[in-house]
Amino acid sequence: MKNLVLIFLEGAYTNLKRILFASDRVTDMELRSMILEGRVKPTEKVAEVPCIGCGGCCNACPTEAIEMVDLDEPVELMEGMTKTKIPVLNSEKCVYCYYCHDFCPLYALFGEAGTIHPNDVGIVELDISQLLEKPVKISEDKIAFISQYLADNTIIRKREDEK
Ligand code: SF4
Ligand code: SF4
Repeated sequence: MKNLVLIFLEGAYTNLKRILFASDRVTDMELRSMILEGRVKPTEKVAEVPCIGCGGCCNACPTEAIEMVDLDEPVELMEGMTKTKIPVLNSEKCVYCYYCHDFCPLYALFGEAGTIHPNDVGIVELDISQLLEKPVKISEDKIAFISQYLADNTIIRKREDEK
């Protein structure tokens, strides 16, 4: 019984210490003050330069959290291929299923970092014109499956209706 009381007191003291003196704090003070002062910027979700603007992420998103918006100026990626739109991800509608990233052709077809990510896309350095010339190394079946998502913006909703 005496030991139990000691354990309880020790636990209560440790918690009090944590609260009053911020001992065991994992978040560093600089980050803490940045959060409190609203200086933390939202992370980038789309790598706009290497994104090819295909709209696959927008089609694959089950919650319509991604909108394709017009670029001010179209960008020629390679002969016969011009980018006119770029995705914008609305985190408030996102359910973090990662379909957008996983169906991004740069990831799904070429095995490179996807140019969209619901948390933080990070730094994506790709030479798109060179990459698009490369042969893809995946099966015909997988290409057909991925192509559906890139081409048909009702595919997920149709599947949900069929359930
Ligand atoms: S992770 Fe979010 S934005 Fe991406 S497909 Fe899923 S719901 Fe849509
Ligand atoms: S699927 Fe990838 S390349 Fe296509 S628009 Fe979305 S982020 Fe860009």
